[in-house]
Amino acid sequence: MPRQCIIIGGSHAGAQVAISLRQEGWQERILVIGNEAHLPYHRPPLSKGFVSGDKSLDDILLRPASYFEKHDIEFVFNVDVESIDRNNKTINCNNGQTYTYDKLALATGARVRKIDLPGSDLPGIHYLRTASDAQAITHDCQSAKSAIIVGGGYIGLELAASFKKAGMQVTVLEMAPRVLARVAAAEVAQFYTRVHTEEGVNIVTGTSAAAFTGSNRVESVTDTNGAQYKADIVIIGVGVIPNTELARDAGLDVDNGIMVNEYAQTSDASIVAAGDCTFHPNALLGRSLRLESVPNATEQAKSAAASLCGNQKAYASLPWFWSDQFDLKLQIAGVNTDYDKVILRGDALQSRSLAAFYLKDNTVIAVDCINRAPEFAAVKKAMTKGLALRIDELSNESIKPKDLIIDNN
Ligand SMILES: Cc1cc2nc3c(=O)[nH]c(=O)nc-3n(C[C@H](O)[C@H](O)[C@H](O)COP(=O)(O)OP(=O)(O)OC[C@H]3O[C@@H](n4cnc5c(N)ncnc54)[C@H](O)[C@@H]3O)c2cc1C
Repeated sequence: MPRQCIIIGGSHAGAQVAISLRQEGWQERILVIGNEAHLPYHRPPLSKGFVSGDKSLDDILLRPASYFEKHDIEFVFNVDVESIDRNNKTINCNNGQTYTYDKLALATGARVRKIDLPGSDLPGIHYLRTASDAQAITHDCQSAKSAIIVGGGYIGLELAASFKKAGMQVTVLEMAPRVLARVAAAEVAQFYTRVHTEEGVNIVTGTSAAAFTGSNRVESVTDTNGAQYKADIVIIGVGVIPNTELARDAGLDVDNGIMVNEYAQTSDASIVAAGDCTFHPNALLGRSLRLESVPNATEQAKSAAASLCGNQKAYASLPWFWSDQFDLKLQIAGVNTDYDKVILRGDALQSRSLAAFYLKDNTVIAVDCINRAPEFAAVKKAMTKGLALRIDELSNESIKPKDLIIDNN
């Protein structure tokens, strides 16, 4: 039998492991097994250009089919890997196939958190994680005039913007007292609420869906306050759960994600893991965490591939993320948990651009930059290189963003 590396999960992390394996000199077989029907594609456009019909699946492929053919990377589609036998180095799939591996990469990502409420299985109620989900949403949107979005996180707000741009009547129901409650400061949430309201989106906080009604498909949503909303389509966006069961059942260390070291190695020397499914250390932050972002999946996958080839490339990138809503381009650098102060740069109450610096013990630990690419670049550079920022000048617009860095050579 020729040696082979099997990669479970064919998305951002899985595809990058395959691509980087060839770049690291892996000569043997590479087989990517995934339970979706398509070649790896960019997931972020699903709530943006794809769902509004501006982009097709071909437009958002990570690489064309010819790239994978040229690099001899094979795919198995629509197949679930059901178990891993680490003693025999085999995996079992739901199509009855067993594959032998020499090296294994887990890139199983995350799945949407589902809700179980009266009527929640009616047609017209959707979740969004995959291109198939987005295709079903796009199909339903052709005849829909009103949309209810349950969950005011980034994906919910991106969808609200996409639907509004398509001329629909849109309401967002958010359980917390404000949108983006888990991920952004109150000032940033207020900024987004204002812009969405200006654009005609109805944002209702402190409430959630309680029941869905309709004869053949969803027609209305009743919220926990007893209010009723007409709904031709409903999207539920209430977070994701990492796909760790396969690893856990195989006896690998799992916490809030598959536990890996800075080289993306699991507790089994033959198995690496990368992407949304991992709980990993970050030297820049000085702690371990699980991230849900494309840059994390891509960069960690490069370390995973290097490890499989016997090279050691530590993954230590600064976490970053983005979100597009209307004309607002948000870029986030760092992770804002446990901040004790927020400093704003820009007019949060009227403008379409803002930077919110998150500080802990008078040090910037993260920034949200809305239509403020220079501020994003400055903070990302400072945090990556360990350079200090002029805290007292962060809100001073007469100082160029790059000059906010002390000792910026
Ligand atoms: C609508 C949307 C918008 C987003 N926007 C942004 C954004 O703007 N910026 C950003 O940085 N990130 C964004 N994200 C998050 C980003 O897409 C994820 O962080 C990224 O996809 C993670 O990649 P991954 O390969 O780790 O996992 P996933 O993309 O979740 O891929 C895992 C794959 O493995 C498959 N799989 C799982 N278990 C098995 C199994 N047992 N057998 C076979 N296959 C299996 C899954 O079906 C899936 O195809 C967005 C996500 C969504 C859904």
